[in-house]
Amino acid sequence: MTIECLQEKYVEVAVFSPLAGTFTYRWPESLGEPVNGIRVQVPFGRGKRFGIIASIDASVEAAITYKEVLDRLDEKPLFDEKRLQWLERVRRYYLAQPGDLWSSALGWASQDDIRRFRCPDSEAVSQSCPELAGLFRTRAALSLKTLIDRTTQTSGIRHVISRACADQLIEEVLPDPMWATQRNDSDSMAGLKPTDAQQQAIEVIIGAKQRFQPSLLFGRTGSGKTEVYLNAAESVIQSGGQVLVLVPEIGLTPMWLARLQQRFEKVALWHSAMTAKERLVVRQHLVQTDILIGTRSSLFLPLPRLALIVVDEEHDASFKQQEGMSYSARDMAVLLAQELQIPIVLGSATPSLESWRQVLSGFYQRLDLPDRIVTDNAQIVPQVVDMRDIESPVSDTLLTALQETMAGGDQSILFLNRRGYAPALQCTACGDVPECPSCSMRLTLHRRAGSLRCHTCGYRRRTPKTCESCGEAAFLPLGEGTEKLEEWLHEHIPDLRFTRFDRDVITSHSRLEKTLEQFEKGELDCLIGTQMLVKGHDFPNVTLVGVVNADLGVSLPDFRASERWWQQMTQVTGRAGRGDKPGRVLIQTRMPEAGWLSRISESEAESTLSEELQLREMLSFPPFARWVRIVCSSAKIERATQVATAIVGQCKKIEGLQIGGPMPCPMERVAGKYRIEVVLRDISRKLLPWKLEPLIAVMQVPNDVRVRMDVDPQDM
Ligand code: ADP
Ligand code: ZN
Repeated sequence: MTIECLQEKYVEVAVFSPLAGTFTYRWPESLGEPVNGIRVQVPFGRGKRFGIIASIDASVEAAITYKEVLDRLDEKPLFDEKRLQWLERVRRYYLAQPGDLWSSALGWASQDDIRRFRCPDSEAVSQSCPELAGLFRTRAALSLKTLIDRTTQTSGIRHVISRACADQLIEEVLPDPMWATQRNDSDSMAGLKPTDAQQQAIEVIIGAKQRFQPSLLFGRTGSGKTEVYLNAAESVIQSGGQVLVLVPEIGLTPMWLARLQQRFEKVALWHSAMTAKERLVVRQHLVQTDILIGTRSSLFLPLPRLALIVVDEEHDASFKQQEGMSYSARDMAVLLAQELQIPIVLGSATPSLESWRQVLSGFYQRLDLPDRIVTDNAQIVPQVVDMRDIESPVSDTLLTALQETMAGGDQSILFLNRRGYAPALQCTACGDVPECPSCSMRLTLHRRAGSLRCHTCGYRRRTPKTCESCGEAAFLPLGEGTEKLEEWLHEHIPDLRFTRFDRDVITSHSRLEKTLEQFEKGELDCLIGTQMLVKGHDFPNVTLVGVVNADLGVSLPDFRASERWWQQMTQVTGRAGRGDKPGRVLIQTRMPEAGWLSRISESEAESTLSEELQLREMLSFPPFARWVRIVCSSAKIERATQVATAIVGQCKKIEGLQIGGPMPCPMERVAGKYRIEVVLRDISRKLLPWKLEPLIAVMQVPNDVRVRMDVDPQDM
């Protein structure tokens, strides 16, 4: 090796792309010293990509010429040592490619072009930073994007700017502080006087300061869980810590934000529907923030003094990320709490079986809130309505109840977990049912929009006038969705003021807020909605909840179907009678004798959980076994099958593993891609996912096949 060669520096970069592994680049001297964990821009394929330095001493081969890093975005790593360790554990557990991990973990930091800079003293800048001279001719602030566009020699500009910032030659224009000024009445800060049960829970949580202590706060809707979180948060914040509250859905954030702002001053919000600018504001106030409320991606925001994590509605399947790296935000949060040695509280009225098992095995501390705070209409026993001889979507019993509720000035909720007018359209002449051209999926009729839509890939087309296979004009909608229910209600209770609450109607965050506000103010009598409506909302004037079709989702092939169904039904019925008025729950079903109907009651939660858990244990299903599902997808079915077969061959080397497949996924085609899966089951829970890591490291995947690893899959 020549001396020159010794001076060259090379780095390993995890490029933000789903491709396997890391890539080696040459590090130019102009960018200063390389540091692990900083972001860089590199040439990749024909374009440029961002990535993160995974290692600063890459091993290189003399025969290869390496491409050069173009730019460096950060002076210092964005995550501290503990969080880097946490992310490494996460990557290994979820069998994620480094690029996939980092693009999830740095989603919050990547939109940098909207940052703005100002140059207070052009003179000084031209002297010490010639690269920037000329760019800041005026005193106006320029966005990073403008600066990049204006430099002819783009390479290294981000680095130059961040150095100039560090040297105080230019300064970043910070947005105004974002704290709301809503918290004006000093009473609300004090909160309510906790009940004994609440007090006990609070003490356990805050007693664990600076120590890893996971607990499950188990209490029915309205039992005062949120008050417990808020009290614990208050104590943590008073001693200088920060609090992260994770919620499963964006839809829950307005309610939470309002409640937090009554009590705390420095509240930040984080979710995917925020603009780049709103996100930047949050990022730049991370240090000052007291409490951050957000959906799963907020887990990655590096709050420097994080001292308590709350995961509300912990059973919710939305905590599982399905795109890119698939991870459970709930489980990652527990790992983070462990890494940071801080308490974490998972709360639910209907805990997941995973968490329930952790309670039984003594790993999670159980905290109970047995009673409802306001009314103790302790038992709302749902009334089952037999729909076997009823044609219309709403029975007379439910119709009368709706009318009575409206007449009494109260509100109601109708739950129907199916969007659109009807889940399928059938030709009565030949029996044909139109399907999506790219998925194994029937098309849903959206009558008002005049279209047929695929709820899997979003494909849509105009509703045909005549059947494409026989030419007859004899279509009949099969089953019912929220749109049909809406039509029926307009016809039968014309003066009922209601709106649909599903993804077709609630298309934006502002729409969501507006609808919830209207309902809260009593401008609407009724909401009809899908599961979007069920989660965690607190509507004090709702006294009637109607489940329009309780049979949906019961008989799915998924082994979690009964758990999900129970959680959903219990959550829906928990919406009734939350204020000081008693509630009523009507459940329409064509299987009125089914045993599971008696399970729909929050007071049945514990026995339901224990029974279901025993069943899982008997069958060696999760959480008693660990499963990994590997999905190979490709436009060509034989390519996907080839790769899946090779994977099975590799997995056979792992002794003690049960291997299912290769076989077509339950939904074989999605968005034009064939999907072949391999399901690995590990009853010992000692093999998976660890033993797969070395296999994956050497796996050669051809370009036309995607391989997706799903550890602890949800929909099986
Ligand atoms: P959950 O989160 O379990 O649904 P909440 O914390 O929202 O329950 O409490 C339900 C209702 O009871 C809320 O209106 C809340 O203001 C009220 N509440 C909670 N704790 C108390 C308390 N200790 N004293 C009086 N009211 C309370
Ligand atoms: Zn489709």
